[in-house]
Amino acid sequence: MWTFHLPTKIHFGLNAAASISELPEICGRRVVIVTDSVVRSVSEIQQLIEKTAPSAVFDKVRPNPTVANVDELTRLLRENNAETVLAIGGGSSMDTAKAAANLAVTTDASIRAYHSEGKTFSQKPIPVVTIPTTAGTGSEVTPIAVLDDEEKIFKSPMSSPSFYPVCAVVDPALTFSLPIHVTAATVLDALSHAIEGYWSKQHQPICDTLAKEAARIIFAHLPEVYDNPKSAAGRKALSYAALTAGIAFHLPKNAMIHACSFPLSNRLHLSHGAACAFTMEEAIRFNAPAMNGRMEEFAKFCGFDEIETMIQTIAFLKRRGGLPCTLQEAGIDSSLTETLIRESFHPLMNNNPRPVTEEDLRKIYTKLEAR
Ligand code: ZN
Repeated sequence: MWTFHLPTKIHFGLNAAASISELPEICGRRVVIVTDSVVRSVSEIQQLIEKTAPSAVFDKVRPNPTVANVDELTRLLRENNAETVLAIGGGSSMDTAKAAANLAVTTDASIRAYHSEGKTFSQKPIPVVTIPTTAGTGSEVTPIAVLDDEEKIFKSPMSSPSFYPVCAVVDPALTFSLPIHVTAATVLDALSHAIEGYWSKQHQPICDTLAKEAARIIFAHLPEVYDNPKSAAGRKALSYAALTAGIAFHLPKNAMIHACSFPLSNRLHLSHGAACAFTMEEAIRFNAPAMNGRMEEFAKFCGFDEIETMIQTIAFLKRRGGLPCTLQEAGIDSSLTETLIRESFHPLMNNNPRPVTEEDLRKIYTKLEAR
């Protein structure tokens, strides 16, 4: 028994963002734009912002968005009586927008009540429109926001059915100028969504199909984009893969790779994508034997003769993209591994197809010491 649901309308295509002001969710409404200062400084984005004639622009989103970020944006949404929240950026901007659009219609001052203190949203939020500027998180279509509570030293995803954006405008042209290391980290995050959605205990047929397709496209097109970052066909394929990978995991949810990524980005400030990519090969080697041949099927669908060839390709894609592959390359002192192991037992670990113990992670981190 399974259920599939995706309420977000998707507009996809090269230069799709150029007609943003004509969307009924934007046209004639009080729009507040949510972005970060780096994305805002890009000339195409400045033009987009001008076109939408927003009531306000919030450009203070941080790479790992915080509870304080969401609370500040919420105040701005209330002051401006926002009717639509338009998020332009990577996962951080989209996650901040979704959380604040929900908090703004409550009487609460802080998202903390919902992020770590158990409150749930019951009201209709301010509608959120997303324009991703990376091919990675899939946040443009998911009901998930990953937030960092700096006071509590607690980073965790939060999810609510009310978090679905009403509309996602996916324009691969906005990713043409991304540097290679950002492309690598974000696309490897998308690959981790495909893998985790596929092996989650809650996996289901529609998401399985999308997961395999997303991974196949990534393996086929990431090397091409490394060689030619402005390849329109390659960038279009990667944006599509990240979108479908987002749909593939938003219901089954993530598992071991993401559970291990949280302390890596919390404590050591690896980007989300680099943190997910860090344990990917070892996680596949660990889980595959418990998946009744499903991982072999996944690898074959992606064009590999066996799982190990796929794992070697992942290692190659990480190296080519400049992502860390060993503890040393990630700047992790081996004395820290016990802390990383302890803090990896996030609830997402319960979705893993094979039970994980501290000893299992110890073996994985030992293998990651050097290669
Ligand atoms: Zn992720």
